[in-house]
Amino acid sequence: MPARPIIASRTPAEPGAPPRNVADANHPEQSERDDPQARVERWVRPAIRSLSAYHVPPAEGFIKLDAMENPYGWPPELVEPWLELLRGAELNRYPDPSAARLTERLREAMAVPASAAVVLGNGSDELIQMIALCLADPDASPRRVALAPEPSFVMYRMIATFTGMDYVGVPLAEDFSLDPAAMLEAIEVHRPAVVYLAYPNNPTGNLFDADDVRALIEAAPGLVVLDEAYHAFAGESFMDALGDYDNLLVMRTVSKMGLAGLRLGLLAGPPAWLAEIDKVRLPYNINVLTQLSAEFALGHDQVLAEQSAHIRAEREALLAALEGLAGLSVYPSRANFVMFRVPAGRAGAIFEGLKAAGVLIKNLDKAGGALRDCLRVTVGTRQENAAFLAALEKLL
Ligand code: PMP
Repeated sequence: MPARPIIASRTPAEPGAPPRNVADANHPEQSERDDPQARVERWVRPAIRSLSAYHVPPAEGFIKLDAMENPYGWPPELVEPWLELLRGAELNRYPDPSAARLTERLREAMAVPASAAVVLGNGSDELIQMIALCLADPDASPRRVALAPEPSFVMYRMIATFTGMDYVGVPLAEDFSLDPAAMLEAIEVHRPAVVYLAYPNNPTGNLFDADDVRALIEAAPGLVVLDEAYHAFAGESFMDALGDYDNLLVMRTVSKMGLAGLRLGLLAGPPAWLAEIDKVRLPYNINVLTQLSAEFALGHDQVLAEQSAHIRAEREALLAALEGLAGLSVYPSRANFVMFRVPAGRAGAIFEGLKAAGVLIKNLDKAGGALRDCLRVTVGTRQENAAFLAALEKLL
């Protein structure tokens, strides 16, 4: 049999663009074959190699106050009917690709305006990634920019890096409010494809001034994403403002409402934007168990709402107790966590001391800059908060 020429078809980066010359990269030296690390280094982009993976510390056995989870489980009278529902789950079938019933429930529960379109994500992390995949342009020079105030949620920067965007962080004011002049200037200079505003902000806990936010939406040449992950504890939202702007998207998650294990986020906004973002969504990104469980949970959303109300009440008690401890600066919070500053140079020791006492919180000091000497604690149950406060008091 004559040898068949092997001609693989190759999709150019953009229709019409000439194929790139990859002859060298495709033929590693023998020495690389002997050294697997060298081959990894040849192929993995330098921008990825220089990143550290998002670190989630092991939490088994700790009072877990590090990740903004709702500390309450479901009442037993809900667990049984939920398990009954799961019994009928068809795990041999792919999920509903559009998660139509769940989408309807979420639209109601989150009061999404009828004129807005919605895309669901495997957590809002995935939605941030989908936005970046749409906006990052490998052929753009200079590179497309994602912009956010700093400090803020670290995934804005990480995902911009994964997807080949430049990231611009604009320092918040000293009290962690927005610095509107600095933001407007950065928008003017960098012309970002997307601006992320966490509302309330993580890790600082505050809500930005709504008029400042509006001014930024008006000035931004591209998208502005209002990330309302902590909406259940804030009581304020830009969801109603969706109709006012053609470049505003509002993002929510069920994670902080008590369903972090399901991995489910929602992005709402103008249909023209969301039709594009939906194209980079992986098929079936919301799995069968998540669709069923979230629909069920939202059918009992008064339980989740009561839990969030408890968390808000416990937050106020925790804030008051922290403010009573000498040596701390406590920042106001509209979220389900509280950030506080400890005496200079002591954050690491206090964090470790709390861990030794069985309480895991988040050490922000390592990030440096404005977060030097800062720690962040998630609002837990009354007992968990009391254990945290007792341990902290001893360490101070
Ligand atoms: N946005 C903000 C501001 C967050 O703090 C977090 C989680 N820490 C997320 C988004 C991600 O949430 P999800 O669990 O929906 O991926």
